[in-house]
Amino acid sequence: MFPEIKITKTTNPRKKPEAGQPLPFGKNFSDHMFVMDYVNGQGWINPRIIPYGPFEIEPSAMVFHYGQAVFEGMKAYLCDDKSINLFRPKLNYERMNTSNDRLVIPHVDVDFCVHATKTLIELDKDWIPSGNGESLYIRPFVIATDPYLGVRASDTYRFFILLSPSGAYYAKGIQPVKIYVEDKYVRAVRGGTGFTKCSGNYACSLIAQTTAHDAGYEQVLWLDGVEQKYIEEVGAMNIMFVIDGKLVTPSLDSGSILSGITRRSCIEIAKSLGIEVDERKISIGELIEAGKNGSLTECFGCGTAAVVSPVGELKYEDTVISINDGKIGTLTQKFYDTITGIQSGKVEDTYSWITKI
Ligand SMILES: *Cc1c(COP(=O)(O)O)cnc(C)c1O
Repeated sequence: MFPEIKITKTTNPRKKPEAGQPLPFGKNFSDHMFVMDYVNGQGWINPRIIPYGPFEIEPSAMVFHYGQAVFEGMKAYLCDDKSINLFRPKLNYERMNTSNDRLVIPHVDVDFCVHATKTLIELDKDWIPSGNGESLYIRPFVIATDPYLGVRASDTYRFFILLSPSGAYYAKGIQPVKIYVEDKYVRAVRGGTGFTKCSGNYACSLIAQTTAHDAGYEQVLWLDGVEQKYIEEVGAMNIMFVIDGKLVTPSLDSGSILSGITRRSCIEIAKSLGIEVDERKISIGELIEAGKNGSLTECFGCGTAAVVSPVGELKYEDTVISINDGKIGTLTQKFYDTITGIQSGKVEDTYSWITKI
C-alpha cells in the first residue's frame, strides 16, 4: 500500500495552450503539481498534489548555494483510444536514485513515485496535447532545503513533479543537425557527476553550447574530460554511430556519460533486429577516419526529447565530415519509428516498455 496522496484541487484553472497552435517546449505548466518533503529521521513525508504555483523557500536554502539538485525527464503520450502511455517510467526513478546517491540525497521510493506520477497525470489528463508528435513532458526533481550556509549534505529536501504540455520536437520534419566537437571545455570527468542528472552538469555545459551556437552549430560533441580524445555525448543526448553495419556507442564505464533510457532502448531494438552492438571507447581520430573512408554511415544523438537526432555534419578542429550526405540514416529512422510508434500506441509494444495510466 502506498501512503495517501492528499489532493487539493485548483479553484483557479490555468489557461491551456490552444490546440492547433505551435506548442513550445517547457513553457506551459498544468494545473497541479506533486510535492513531498524529506526530513532526516522521518523520511519522505506529506505527499500531496496542490495547484501549480510559486512556493516559499528560504534564500539560505542549500540548493541555491551548493547546488544539491537532481532532476528527471520523461513523457506521457495520448493514444488514439484515449488511453495514456508512459515509457519505462521506473527506469527514470531508478536513475534518480543513482543521481541521488552521488549527490548525497536520500532515495525516493521508485514504485511510489511512478504511482504519484500516474495520480498527477490522471488528475491533469486534459493537459495532454493530442496533436501529432505532441506529448506531456514530466519533470520530477529534488532540491536541498536546509536554511544553512555551511557546506554539508542537507537534512531536508523537497521533491516535485511538474507537467508541461509540449509540442512535437520535429514540427518541420526530422532535420539532421551540424555539430561542433568541443576541444576546450569538458562536460564531465572520471569520478565526477557526468553519469547523474544533477543540475550543475547543465550549468557548466552552457558555455560550450553558446559558443557552438554562435559559430553556427546546433550542438556540441563532448570529448572525455581526461584526454579529450574519446567521444562521450552530444549536447544532453547520448550518441550512436553505425560503422561497418554495427551499432557503435561509447560504453558507460567511464562514469562521465549519462545512462539514457533512449540509448538503452535503441540497443535493445538493434539486438532484437540481429544487429551487432558495440559499446566501447571511440576516439575522435577513429571517427574522423571512419568518416573519411566511408565506413561511418550513420550518426545520431538519442534522448527523451527528440528520441533521435541525426547528425549530418561534424566539425573537429579544421576537419569537417559530412555523414550520409546530411540525410537521416536507415537504422536511425528505424529506431525513431519503432520508439515513437510504441510510445504513441501505434506499434505493438513487444518489449513491454509501456506503463498504462
Ligand atoms: C537526459 C540525458 C540523456 C538522455 O537520457 P534519456 O533517458 O534517453 O532521456 C543523455 N545525456 C544527458 C547528459 C542527459 O541529461
